[in-house]
Amino acid sequence: MILDELETPLSKLPGAGEKTVAALAGAGVTDLRSLLSLSPRAYEDRSVPVPLDNVRSHLSPVAVVTIVRVVSHDFFGPPHRKTLKIRVRDGSASAALLCFGRNFLSRTVRPGADFLLSGNFSESRGEISASSFDLEPATPEVSRLLDNWLSSGTVPARFPRTGRFGSLLPRYRDIGGLGEQKIRSLLSAAIDAYGVKLEDPVPPAIRERHGFPAYAHALSGFHRPRDAAEARDSRRRLAYGELFTIQLESQLQARARSGAAAAKADSSSAPAATPARGAPAQSPFETPRRVLEGLGWKLTVGQQQISQKLLEGLATGRPMNVLIQGDVGSGKTILGLLAAAGAADLGGQSVLMAPTDILARQHAETAQALLGPVGLTVGLLTSDTPAAARRLLRDELAAGTIHLLVGTHAVYSADLSYKNLLLAVIDEQHRFGVRQRAALLEKGGQVHQVLMSATPIPRSLAIALFGDMDIETLTEKPANRVPIETHLARMGNEAKVYDFVARKLEAGARAYFVYPRVEDEDDRIKSVEAMYAQLSKEIFPGYSLGLLHGRMSDEEKTEVMLEFKRGGLQILVATTVVEVGLDVPEATCIVIEHAERFGLAALHQLRGRVGRSSQQSFCFLVYSEPLTDIARERLRVLKTSSDGFEIAEKDLSLRGPGDLGGLQQSGFLRLDYADLALDLDLMKKAADDARALLAADPDLVLPEHRLLAKMLERRAAASAFTEAAEV
Ligand code: ADP
Ligand code: MG
Repeated sequence: MILDELETPLSKLPGAGEKTVAALAGAGVTDLRSLLSLSPRAYEDRSVPVPLDNVRSHLSPVAVVTIVRVVSHDFFGPPHRKTLKIRVRDGSASAALLCFGRNFLSRTVRPGADFLLSGNFSESRGEISASSFDLEPATPEVSRLLDNWLSSGTVPARFPRTGRFGSLLPRYRDIGGLGEQKIRSLLSAAIDAYGVKLEDPVPPAIRERHGFPAYAHALSGFHRPRDAAEARDSRRRLAYGELFTIQLESQLQARARSGAAAAKADSSSAPAATPARGAPAQSPFETPRRVLEGLGWKLTVGQQQISQKLLEGLATGRPMNVLIQGDVGSGKTILGLLAAAGAADLGGQSVLMAPTDILARQHAETAQALLGPVGLTVGLLTSDTPAAARRLLRDELAAGTIHLLVGTHAVYSADLSYKNLLLAVIDEQHRFGVRQRAALLEKGGQVHQVLMSATPIPRSLAIALFGDMDIETLTEKPANRVPIETHLARMGNEAKVYDFVARKLEAGARAYFVYPRVEDEDDRIKSVEAMYAQLSKEIFPGYSLGLLHGRMSDEEKTEVMLEFKRGGLQILVATTVVEVGLDVPEATCIVIEHAERFGLAALHQLRGRVGRSSQQSFCFLVYSEPLTDIARERLRVLKTSSDGFEIAEKDLSLRGPGDLGGLQQSGFLRLDYADLALDLDLMKKAADDARALLAADPDLVLPEHRLLAKMLERRAAASAFTEAAEV
């Protein structure tokens, strides 16, 4: 039966030997489902001819797709290292295939034989040539097309579909060094052996209404499209399936929550929350007020309004479900802490979950500083917490003596039980899956859920995605902030930037340097390791520098970031791992090199590492030329705007079709097929369809919804505890 087959191990697949299976497994592709969810990164159009003579009218190389006859073999280069040059011709011109390191082609590519040919050709001194190309032996039908072209000059209208020609060729990212061709053939085998049998969980009525092809068709059309239209329609069909599933899940969850709330309201005799400290206050405002008195600053109006709503929500007892959106540095953490203080007044415990150790630790320190003095107990639990400390925490949680537990996903471990969990605050919510959040909520009976997101989402999208939540938006920044000065610098001028930073460091500032790569793979791109060495030895020899990247262990990363926060390091040289919420108010300079290689959202997040105090901060975006139009526009947007919401809107509009960077990657949702920039309409359809379907068949018991019910069950069980991906 179909759903079970998706879990078929890849070793069952024709053409997947032991080595292939191991290589795929290394990249997390272990079963049919994960194989079939690989997406082409682009398509190459090999359906219509682009003859050789097109090269003549172009300055830069042209992607030629044609049929050629082999004319002769030649050799060039020094006598002891001759390189094969294969002369070919199509109906328009002759060309040379330069076979560097591939002299063996002389055996298979014989004079007189015909081939389909694709490659990037350019012209130099009257000769058209290419050194990288793809050849496929012509079938008799293809040879007849060439005969006709050579004799009558009729260019074939299109190619018949054969191996890699006559269609759009999907291009995949290489996985485990297997090579694209292998990935294509595995996918083809998977589609032929299993894909065609897959039944469609999207009910027929919905499919018909939108004119969607069946799932199996779409799968094949996505990976082996005949033309661009088929590729597009197939992708949209798969994207719809994905969005429809997400909508059903989120609506079912919303219903479960409100059902639970109603049940609680019914049993009015339920015991009141157990007092955690002496006699419980009746109102959740008392301790939060004392926390505010101890702060050295005042809440902004936006912070006041949102905290007021959160505390009122706690007071009514009906589980809240709130998403707080706020730009980087807008001060979301305090909102979570005030709510936790209010929950304690009601005798309930709170949990604050963050995606990384460093963030959890940072929050725990802040929580301790603000909540400790008003008599609340804060615990910290991460995967590093030693066993003995963990046992102690576990006992205290169960006994109710911990008021707020701060931690990573460890906070919903199976062996933990909370005495009376009332509030779950989830920071950087996009780094957690729906299931992880659900697992946390299950630790209590009636848990208020507050999600915090620093990836500002355009409102239209937020409503489509989080339609069942109350969305609160923090628009203003704390009043003491001075806008960050953003400067653009061309690579080559970075010495001036370094000088500027050096003067700031002398005056006691701290600085971030950010690079796109961990190691040198390519001389033209600066890597964090190479630059760490250069900055420490040559440019800032008198200072302490720290190195930070995703290949370090969590412990090492945490240690480095804490040292930077404490001031033991003045410079942090990092990849985008610093993107996540690190709060070091003394850091006032950030230099981002190869800024053209980062997405808009990522750059905005990175810039948000500075400008966190009343000091003037500086952001330098160092770019290397040539810039694409989009990269230029991105840098312009950053220079002129510091409003995360405006930047997010621009990000959506700047991203063209097929550009899967940006929002998703910096992202708040992991999707295989859907592209939120392109598929907003699909998202709305999926939301409406899910609503209508659940209204008509609330428990998914109708036969046409059987597959859907089963699929949702599977997802619930399978993806339960998948780790949030690293940035
Ligand atoms: P984010 O919204 O990015 O999570 P944080 O909660 O980390 O922001 O807050 C950023 C910094 O601003 C922290 O150092 C915090 O103490 C400070 N802060 C928050 N609110 C205010 C305020 N109203 N006035 C002054 N500083 C504030
Ligand atoms: Mg934060």
